[in-house]
Amino acid sequence: MTDTPRVRIAPSPTGNIHLGLARTSLFNWAFAKRHGGAFVLRIEDTDKERSTMESERQILEGLAWLGVQWDEGPDVGGPYEPYRQSERVERHMATADRLLESGRAYRCFCSKERLDALRAEQESRKETPRYDRKCLGLDPAESAKRAADGEPFTVRFQVPEGRTAFTDLVRGEVSFDNAEVDDWVMVRQGGNPTYNFVVVCDDADMKITHVLRGEEHLTNTPKQLLLYRALDLDPPAFAHLPLMLGANRKKLSKRDGADVALEDYRKKGFPKAAIINFLCLQGWALDGETEVFSVEQLVENFDLSDVSKGGAVFDMEKFHWMAGEYLRKESPETLAKHCAPYVVEAGLMTEDEIADSGEWFRAVVAGFQDRIRLYSELPAWIANLFADDERVEYEAAAEKNARKHEGRVETLKSFLAWLTPKLTSDTPVDELRDGAKEWVKGAGLKFPQLFQPLRCALTGQAGGPDLFDVMDWIGGERSLSRIQAGIRRLAD
Ligand code: GLU
Repeated sequence: MTDTPRVRIAPSPTGNIHLGLARTSLFNWAFAKRHGGAFVLRIEDTDKERSTMESERQILEGLAWLGVQWDEGPDVGGPYEPYRQSERVERHMATADRLLESGRAYRCFCSKERLDALRAEQESRKETPRYDRKCLGLDPAESAKRAADGEPFTVRFQVPEGRTAFTDLVRGEVSFDNAEVDDWVMVRQGGNPTYNFVVVCDDADMKITHVLRGEEHLTNTPKQLLLYRALDLDPPAFAHLPLMLGANRKKLSKRDGADVALEDYRKKGFPKAAIINFLCLQGWALDGETEVFSVEQLVENFDLSDVSKGGAVFDMEKFHWMAGEYLRKESPETLAKHCAPYVVEAGLMTEDEIADSGEWFRAVVAGFQDRIRLYSELPAWIANLFADDERVEYEAAAEKNARKHEGRVETLKSFLAWLTPKLTSDTPVDELRDGAKEWVKGAGLKFPQLFQPLRCALTGQAGGPDLFDVMDWIGGERSLSRIQAGIRRLAD
C-alpha cells in the first residue's frame, strides 16, 4: 500500500446523481484532501443496457458543480487509464482466465430455465436461493471444449468454506460465513463482467487504498475480499457509510415521495453550500454541536472514526432551515445572481431586464433576504411588485392586519394627501421615512394604525421589507395608485 491514500467513487451512468452518491463523493473527496491523497472517478458502465453517455455527462457535470474535483477520471485522464470500466474489459477477461486456470473460478453451462427452476424449488422449501454447483465438478478439459464449441456459459467464482472477516473503518469487526455467499457470477453469458468482479480488478489495478461507499454494499464486501484473496492481492480498507433514511426511517426513496436526486435540490434553489453541509451531516458530525460548517472545516476535520454506524435521517425541515442560513450569508450580488433564473422562469422579468436594472434588482433581492430560504421562493414574494394594481394578490393575513384598524381608510387617505406631493417631487427615501413617522405621531396614531393598512395596500403581504424601500422600488406614481387601490379594497 502506498503512503498517501487513493480513494475512488465508481458511479454507474444509469441515471442522475442520487443524494447517496453525492454524499459518498463528498466524503471520499474530503478524505483524499485531508490526507493529501488522490480522488479517482471511475465510471462503472458494466450494465450495458442501462448505461448512457448522457448520464455520464450529467454525473460529471453534477459532481463538478458540487465541487468535488477528481484528480483522475475519464475526462482528465491519469496514470491508470482508462477510467471507464467498459474500456478495461480485456484486463477483466485476462483476470477471469487466470482464475479459471487456477481453479478458483469455473464455467457454468446451466441454462436460465434450469437456474429459474432451481430457484423456485429452493424458495418453495424456504431456502435461500443459491447455485447448486452442478458445473463445479465438470472436467476442465471438457469445460474448455464446450466453451470452444460455442456453448454459452457464465464464469462463477468458487467460494471457499470458512469465514470472511474484516475491520470496517466505520463499523468495526464484520464477519460473514462463506456459506452465506453464493458461487456468484463474475462474467455473464456473452462475456460481460459483473460489478463485484470488475470492481476488484479495477480497484486493484488503480491501487485504491480505501473504499468508502454506502452500507448497501456491505454484503458485497465478502465476495470482493474472497476475490482479492484468490488473486493474491492485498485488499483495500473498507468503510461503509450509513444509509440515508427518510422520515419513516426506511432507506430514503423516491417511492416514499422523497426527492433523491441532487438535481432536485439544485432546481429547487437550495444554496450549494447548504447542500454540501447538509449531506455531510448525514452520517458525520463536526463536533456534535456545530451544524453549520464550511467545506474547509470538513476537509480539516473529516475522520472516518467520526462517521456514525446508525442510519442518518434526512430531516427536510432542517435542510430548509440550513438553506436559509446559507442564503442569508450571501452578498446581494451573489444572491441576485442565484435568484435571477427563478424570476425569469416565473415570467416577472427577462434576463435583459434584470441585467439592465442593475442596482434595482439587487436591492429588491436583498430586501427579501431574511424572508426566503431557497432562491426559488423569491418570485412568490415579489410578484405583487410587478402586478397591475387591480391584480395584486392580498394575503388573508395582510387584510386581517389592516382591517383591525377602525379608521384605516381615513388614515390612508390623509396620509396619501401628505405623501402625494412628496412622491411627485422625488423626496429621498430616508427623508420620506422619517417624515412619515413624524406624520403618524402628529396625527396622534400608533405606527401599526398606518403601517399595517399601508403595507397591505402596497404589497398585499402581511410582512416584508421596509415600506419606503418598496415605494422606492415601484416608483412614486405606482405607489400612489397602489395606495388608492388599497383604499378601495379596504373600504368595506
Ligand atoms: N457502482 C457502484 C455504486 O454506484 C459502486 C459501488 C462501489 O463503490 O464499490 O453503487
